Amino acid sequence: MKLYHRCLLGISMAGSLQLASCATKTNTKTSTSETMTTEQKALETASADVHSYARPAEAVAKHLDLDIAVDFNSKTISGTASYLIDNLTKTNEIVFDVRGLQIEKVYLGDNKEETTFTLGENNTFLGQPLTVNIKPDTRTVTIQYKTSADAAALQWLNPQQTAGKKYPFLFTQSQAILARTWIPIQDSPGIRITYNATVKVPKELLAVMSASNPQEKNSSGVYTFEMKQPIPSYLMALSVGDLVFSKVGPQTGIYAEPATIEAAAYEFAEMDKMLVAAEKIYGKYRWDRYDLLVLPPSFPFGGMENPRLTFVTPTVLAKDRSLTSLIAHELAHSWSGNLVTNATWNDFWLNEGFTVYFERRIMEEIYGKEYAAMLNVLGYQDLQHTLDDIGRQNEDTRLKLDLEGRDPDEGLTDIAYEKGNAFLQNIERAVGREKFDQFVNKYFNTFAFKSTNTDLFLDFLRTELIKGDEELAEKINIEGWVFSPGLPADVQKPESTRFAAVAATYTSWANGTPAKQLDTKDWSSHEWLHFIRLLPAKMTPQQLTDLDTAFGFTNSGNSEVLAAWLLHTINNKYTKADKALETFLVNVGRRKFLIPLYKALLQTPEGKKKALAIYAKARPNYHAVSTVTIDDMLK
Ligand SMILES: [Zn+2]
Repeated sequence: MKLYHRCLLGISMAGSLQLASCATKTNTKTSTSETMTTEQKALETASADVHSYARPAEAVAKHLDLDIAVDFNSKTISGTASYLIDNLTKTNEIVFDVRGLQIEKVYLGDNKEETTFTLGENNTFLGQPLTVNIKPDTRTVTIQYKTSADAAALQWLNPQQTAGKKYPFLFTQSQAILARTWIPIQDSPGIRITYNATVKVPKELLAVMSASNPQEKNSSGVYTFEMKQPIPSYLMALSVGDLVFSKVGPQTGIYAEPATIEAAAYEFAEMDKMLVAAEKIYGKYRWDRYDLLVLPPSFPFGGMENPRLTFVTPTVLAKDRSLTSLIAHELAHSWSGNLVTNATWNDFWLNEGFTVYFERRIMEEIYGKEYAAMLNVLGYQDLQHTLDDIGRQNEDTRLKLDLEGRDPDEGLTDIAYEKGNAFLQNIERAVGREKFDQFVNKYFNTFAFKSTNTDLFLDFLRTELIKGDEELAEKINIEGWVFSPGLPADVQKPESTRFAAVAATYTSWANGTPAKQLDTKDWSSHEWLHFIRLLPAKMTPQQLTDLDTAFGFTNSGNSEVLAAWLLHTINNKYTKADKALETFLVNVGRRKFLIPLYKALLQTPEGKKKALAIYAKARPNYHAVSTVTIDDMLK
């Protein structure tokens, strides 16, 4: 099958759609521009998604009935995925994405008539196309399947790896293209489905999904779910564990293990306030409930915006609510990402850039401009770091990416987040906040429950905001921000007065004032983080001891502060922190922390030895999303 051809959708100013250099996967029938609805356009784009074998412009799934059982002994999920489909071109086959799935039988229709299917050639990260033979009038396709024990989306934790140490735990991570490792699915972000699910789990555990959720265990171990808003496949999510629920506000609450729930309820007590602040900026929350699920520490990300139920790392439980901008971020995805979705992973910046921008706006609404300014500066530092790391001329530093032939998880970096945010802040500065908010509101409403891509967004920007104003177009500088590598010359470096005070304190220390005499009263973890980032790369053992004795960095319970400090202790061979480093790396699976720390260790032969020894212990605690990267680094 010809997969590696991409259909470039060129959208003219007038909004008509031209198909340029279009070589879709196979005989996809394309409609003419004028007659295409937004939905058809989305399906055309999804058909051209280089990370999916599906051909939704021919036959597309609309609704999924999932009926599965979770078996912790064999570490497998098995059951049926039954799809309601639209056979748009009356074709005789429909294609799904699968990776490592055992496909047992496929049936058509409500009477479950068995049909034939083929599995195509296997690609390491794309998996295989599952081509099912259907009839022109087929409405239902039921796939009976079983996952493999090493399904990349699934992380099976033994009791020892949980907070309670008594029961096993399972969670999924479907983004970017891992949904296909636990469900046979048309796995492109340009395709949306509604779903119902029945999930059977061991009686002592609770199952939750990215859907309407139970709030307590029942005696049967069978749970049912409904997601009535259409979502892309990467938002399919399931978790099973010894979970309890704690209410926060009328439509918000937290799921966590009993051992963690109290700390989580304290840490995230302001999530309801965040929801109110978000709605004030971009309109009504469209997903009914907003709950959090606090996972065991091996979760590879800070958070995952699974609709109605954000999955979140326990590494933000800092006991002082100082790292909750992560919740603002995941909540913001309820608009940017979940409601208006990037059509392909090349347009990832539309999900993440908007979300970082919105996250900072929510934080500003609740904690004020100065607070948001600190987050902007830290984000800008991360962006500079990424640019230095991968090179300012690297193609992957453009907002519009080209991930063809690569696993999207490997090509998605900070650029989408922080350069995306900086671009949007640049537009806001050019037109003023009021106008920009109106524009974004209209954008979210126009594309609600649809997919969008870079061209569609830029077209909307030109029609709704630039409106032929050349001076404004120059200020917004689409070419420089979206299609060019590095950062354009007009980038405005964010500043923070609170950080200026931190810098003064740092200078005083650098000039010889002992750490314990520094004025660090009422510093937030952002100020501490900034201080640690200001520390020089080379420090004497006395300097490190001075700082550590005064501020207790090595024993910090704040994961951001500790991870930043550990980088210095590795680089300066401050062995007093070795134990803390090992504990942190063995227990925490969050990729954001792991990668820089392992990288720092790899700089020296003795560091590499240490890294390998730690990794041997830590690897079972990491999700595949993390091990794929670290295996590669350490090989
Ligand atoms: Zn995000």
